[in-house]
Amino acid sequence: MQSKMLINGELVEGAAVPLAVIDPATGEEIISVGQADDAQLDSAVRSAQEAFETYSKTTPAQRAALLLDIAGVIEQNAEALAALESHNVGKPWPSALDDEMPLTLDTFRFFAGAARTLSGVAAGEYVPGHTSLIRRDPIGPVAAIAPWNYPLMMAAWKLAAPLAAGCSVVLKPSEITPLSTLRLGELLADVVPKGVINIVYGVGTSIGARLINADGIEAVSITGSPATGSAAMRAAARQMRQVHVELGGKAPVIVYEDADVEKLVATLRATAFFNAGQDCAQPCRVLVASKVYDRVVSALAEAAASIKVGAPRASGTEMGPLVTDVHRQRVAGFVDRARTYAEVVTGGTVAPGGGFFYRPTVVADVDQHAEIAVQEVFGPVITVSRFTPDQDPVAIANATRYGLASSIWTQDSGRAMAASSRLRYGFTWVNTHGVATPEMPWAAMKGSGHGCDMSVFALDAYTSVRHVMLAHG
Ligand code: NAD
Repeated sequence: MQSKMLINGELVEGAAVPLAVIDPATGEEIISVGQADDAQLDSAVRSAQEAFETYSKTTPAQRAALLLDIAGVIEQNAEALAALESHNVGKPWPSALDDEMPLTLDTFRFFAGAARTLSGVAAGEYVPGHTSLIRRDPIGPVAAIAPWNYPLMMAAWKLAAPLAAGCSVVLKPSEITPLSTLRLGELLADVVPKGVINIVYGVGTSIGARLINADGIEAVSITGSPATGSAAMRAAARQMRQVHVELGGKAPVIVYEDADVEKLVATLRATAFFNAGQDCAQPCRVLVASKVYDRVVSALAEAAASIKVGAPRASGTEMGPLVTDVHRQRVAGFVDRARTYAEVVTGGTVAPGGGFFYRPTVVADVDQHAEIAVQEVFGPVITVSRFTPDQDPVAIANATRYGLASSIWTQDSGRAMAASSRLRYGFTWVNTHGVATPEMPWAAMKGSGHGCDMSVFALDAYTSVRHVMLAHG
């Protein structure tokens, strides 16, 4: 199994203390991977700096061709990459291959096209006797940090946009789930010019922190928890760098009394427990009009209880384990504390097996201000709260620091438009939840970060707007 990092076009074993990578479905070690030592990290950054000098001068067509080549390599190796992803994160095999891989591939293909859309907006005489041009140039080498929940897809989001913009990258996957990204590095070693992509491995607070603070980095791009986002912003503040942070979420789901309850429940069954609920857009905070509240709670409880929990490769498995035992204890802690003030209508227990399994859980009668209603649980747990006709569900939904995903359920399109205009979330679905496409921004607001991954707007984090003025005489 590939466990080497990619630095300056070479595959190298990490020289610092190795870490055990664990199979969450069994609790057993898959492999031990050496972390980068300081010299290796510094050499990856230097390599990205050197590569930037030539890569930033490539034409958009050349970058597009590179991104298409990367997509081609991933497509040829899709089964092997999905197998690593499923093994390392505990994802059901069909969802690793059929749900995540297409979006991972399409991200590179979308940015191949997006690379060719970059243009300035002005060319003209704004001062007599002078012609002005606006350029959008690559910003410089990027430090990119990815989380553990969708390792390969997050690597795609962290790589494709900067490469399209003309930037070189040093990418650090999560210390918990590095295997698919390390394998990607091996596959790309002969495809990508030396130093344009570097992949380093190690713990966030040591090697990650050294990376985001390294001299020679011009932009920091992080997907992770709010605490890591703050660390990135501190690093960026110290050295005056561009920073892009995509952080946690606590997606509200507003269910009005005219919602299609059957469709709602089918959608939440499919999306709230997808990836064992370890998803920043997970629909987890369900706010229901009192008229349909009882119906929604019982249908959700029934749907959640019917989800088949099991090993990633077991036939019919719909939900795998949580990623680590520590994370399972954290999730269980939220549910156990909620028992004193709310009702656990299904789940709330560890599921059998040697791995880190936890049952799909629905907690009802949750006060809108309760800990479990406002903090990110990041597991297979949804809360249900009721709102009365004199309460404004949009105001309730807006009353947390999170601002990533949200959804509205109603058959009244005017009400949906009015509510979506007031929601303070980077994206809002109406009568659906969780559908993503690379053309549209995965946008963050408030405590969930700023800027976006995917869409042409993602290029903003990796480009500088520049003015060039030519005097005629
Ligand atoms: P995390 O913040 O613990 O780790 C994310 C990455 O940051 C890891 O690679 C880690 O090693 C690194 N890191 C940690 N501390 C660091 C530091 N001080 N300096 C540099 N790097 C550091 O997050 P996680 O537990 O891996 O992921 C879960 C979180 O990610 C959740 O909050 C989830 O909502 C969020 N997430 C957000 C999105 C999004 O698009 N907004 C997508 C996926 C996950």
